[in-house]
Amino acid sequence: MKAVEISETRQISIIEKPEPQITESNDIIVKIKAVSICGTDVHTFQGEHPFVKPPVVVGHECSGEVVACGAGVTKFKAGDHVAIDPVFGCGSCRACKSGRANACADVKCRGVHVQGAMQEYFKIRECDVHKLPSSVTDLALGAVVEPMGIGAQACWRGNVSEGQVVVVFGAGPIGIAVMLNAHCLGASCILIDMKEDRLERARQLGAVAAYSATDPELKDKILAQTDGEGPHVTCDAVGHPAIFEQCIDLVAPAGTVVLLGMDGRPNNVTELQIFKKEMTVVGSRMNSNMFPIILDRVAQGKMNLNDMVSHRFTTDKASDAFKMAVEKPEGFLKAMVTF
Ligand SMILES: [Zn+2]
Ligand SMILES: [Zn+2]
Repeated sequence: MKAVEISETRQISIIEKPEPQITESNDIIVKIKAVSICGTDVHTFQGEHPFVKPPVVVGHECSGEVVACGAGVTKFKAGDHVAIDPVFGCGSCRACKSGRANACADVKCRGVHVQGAMQEYFKIRECDVHKLPSSVTDLALGAVVEPMGIGAQACWRGNVSEGQVVVVFGAGPIGIAVMLNAHCLGASCILIDMKEDRLERARQLGAVAAYSATDPELKDKILAQTDGEGPHVTCDAVGHPAIFEQCIDLVAPAGTVVLLGMDGRPNNVTELQIFKKEMTVVGSRMNSNMFPIILDRVAQGKMNLNDMVSHRFTTDKASDAFKMAVEKPEGFLKAMVTF
């Protein structure tokens, strides 16, 4: 079978690999239809990922059609259209047992810690597979259930609810995913980004406001839109120490700050700031069991997976997909490779 490999830094090769075979009773073989490209994959392509090094087959945002099932598989059959949750934990620690495998000390993501899905056939456990609703007639769109799930996770961690205002820093795929999920929960969103085309997309997708990160009146504008008190929830979907500080500064008393970034640098937030507002500061990592929630929102017509995809490439043009994900030209949000 064909696989799209990052063979060396900034180099994509189409390689031949043996097809995966069923070995365990809960194995499912999925014929991959699409894999969308994430920031993590771009880091690997650019040679900037801390531990994923070429040659490697990446890809953790994927959809496809079931072609074979192990003897113990009960919920799926050949022909089912599915999305794959790439996150799995050790299965035995406290986090895993409480349904939070994404926070397991030994958590793994397919396409990052272990082999990825950018290949014609992919073997996966039954518990990681989720059936797409029949309303999703474009199977490729199942690939973006995963990034949408990251937005759902952030809203769950932030306790986002009806009538709230959420300020999201970053109008890239993750910031947009946070907003689209917040809308499903009845909240409204203000998005902040450096790039005007991203702000414009955020407005088109329903942001009540979208401001440039360099706007000198940013804070005043946000306060004016939140009764002078600040937003109920602020969310850093970029991952930068200065944005963490802004999130803490802007959030209303008794509000919640959600952190999705993974910047390791220290910042200037003080204990006193958190204490005075009695705010809640939470991390949000990948997703824990958010696929059913996303698929339900999609089935109910509350969420459109196509909102997340701006460009598609066939496998022979996969190299162009990665290059575009690096360059992020105007109008770019997320690229996918289709098989
Ligand atoms: Zn990702
Ligand atoms: Zn665990």
